[in-house]
Amino acid sequence: MLRSHTCGELNLTHNGQIVTLSGWVQRSRDLGGMTFVDLRDRYGITQLVFNMETNAPLCEEARKLGREYVISATGTVTERSNKNLKMPTGEIEIFVEKLEILNVSKIPPFTIEDNTDGGDELRMKYRYLDLRRNTVRDNLMLRHHMGIETRNYMNEIGFIEVETPVLIKSTPEGARDFVVPSRMNEGQFYALPQSPQTFKQLLMVAGLDKYFQIVKCFRDEDLRADRQPEFTQIDCEMSFVTQDDILNTFEGLTRHLFKTVKSVDINKLPRMTFADAMKNYGNDKPDIRFEMTFVELTDLVKGHDFKVFEDAELVAGINANGCAGYTRKQLDALTDFVKRPQVGAGGLIYVRFNEDGSLKSSVDKFYTEDDLKKWAAAFNAKPGDLMLILAGVAGKTRKALSELRLEMGNQLGLRNSEVFAPLWVVDFPLLEWDEDTQRYYAMHHPFTSPKPEDIPMLDTDPGKVRANAYDLVINGVEIGGGSIRIHNRDLQKRMFTILGFTDEDAQAQFGFLMNAFEFGAPPHGGIAFGFDRMCSLFGGSDSIRDYIAFPKNNSGRDVMIDSPSPIKQEQLDELKLKLNLTEK
Ligand code: ASP
Repeated sequence: MLRSHTCGELNLTHNGQIVTLSGWVQRSRDLGGMTFVDLRDRYGITQLVFNMETNAPLCEEARKLGREYVISATGTVTERSNKNLKMPTGEIEIFVEKLEILNVSKIPPFTIEDNTDGGDELRMKYRYLDLRRNTVRDNLMLRHHMGIETRNYMNEIGFIEVETPVLIKSTPEGARDFVVPSRMNEGQFYALPQSPQTFKQLLMVAGLDKYFQIVKCFRDEDLRADRQPEFTQIDCEMSFVTQDDILNTFEGLTRHLFKTVKSVDINKLPRMTFADAMKNYGNDKPDIRFEMTFVELTDLVKGHDFKVFEDAELVAGINANGCAGYTRKQLDALTDFVKRPQVGAGGLIYVRFNEDGSLKSSVDKFYTEDDLKKWAAAFNAKPGDLMLILAGVAGKTRKALSELRLEMGNQLGLRNSEVFAPLWVVDFPLLEWDEDTQRYYAMHHPFTSPKPEDIPMLDTDPGKVRANAYDLVINGVEIGGGSIRIHNRDLQKRMFTILGFTDEDAQAQFGFLMNAFEFGAPPHGGIAFGFDRMCSLFGGSDSIRDYIAFPKNNSGRDVMIDSPSPIKQEQLDELKLKLNLTEK
């Protein structure tokens, strides 16, 4: 054995024992008579001591150790005179009697400490070094813990994990597919799954009853901090269930994970309809850690010759408690914020409810203090508050006000990453109209069932039809989503027609599923959770990359293995592929 203990476990109870530790040299300090080396492994750091007086040659050798050298050291556990109680091993040190250098190391391109000097790209290029850092490694440990607890819980309640294929069939619906050429089937391609959706439904037809899988999914989309071309889902499906059964089951999983991984107790999850979420938060993934819900003033403010309000489809605002003292500069900054293209408002109207009870607005030319009093009543505002109002086309105004609400939440410190406020958003619309292509798209996916009571509207007013679809939202992040599925061939076929498929297309793309529905498909439904996002939320970070061992950068590249990369002409020939690249 190259070690008797790890670098994280020794303490005063081991005092006097002879031990062997192996690991990496984090840092060494030469104090003349003594040389100290911090030895690191996955479990922690232990201080090694080399004494010039008792063993000069060994101390000389220790002085030559470079950062990240791999060594094995044998010595006696000794109580430290200068204890570091912040470290689990901080009460002891090892007086080394034997040292073996197992491997040398080049000087690492960045410091391997909690606070590193390495930039993102550099750390990604040397990800194996980045992963030596406690913070990054802890993220992977958290992810491991989440995975284990998910499997424990799902197993406990009777779900079985089934693997579904990775080489599947390209379908036009949803995001863009990654495709893989088939050598044996010239001119034909597999696609990597965007999710195991159709397979898990087929598993229900097969009678597996309760399925789950922690599974890689692939979507060829533009990347952001919370997106990766390959990502992991906790994918689940159940038979003979209603929406309520699914919400209750996965509320159980959510609670279990919070309890076991974060030691946080979660109350019963509130349920909010999509319509209410949009009306009160302007967002289908509301952050309900704080209130500041929308107040609509459209009727109240009309008829005062203020053109912005007269022309507006919606006038709505939020009340920022205790912000009446915002300076001109702060208000200008908020105005700039809402005018940013990503937010998209034309301007910002504000009303200060001063501590002395007086009201002062940016539209005093058009409104008397009595008018403003009525507004304040609508906002339920108190002296000291600041009302912030936007106006315009309803959809755009709600979106912009949602951004402003989140910004105010940030400014007022109401979005603490250690506070968790999960909820279910339910009753999503079945379809979404797209102006560009002049057609309906499935808001969730084409297998989602309409609410039975809304089915008659499929012909008359498809946009109004609600789905048995739901999202799990935590702290303003969509963590999971799912639906009760269509399990009837005719309804599924009708759905494809509404989505603009010809019968032939529907049959060619999804015939396997519709055919299966003819062999006794049970009612079923399910959900999938974004596992990477869930891990980053539990870890208190916005970036899912921090929770993926080997992530890709914003251009979808793995800069460590340098991929994607060209392939050899022989490979192309074998696949019968001819590239037609545009010159750059
Ligand atoms: N397959 C869906 C998705 O990836 C989730 C589901 O409906 O279960 O979003």
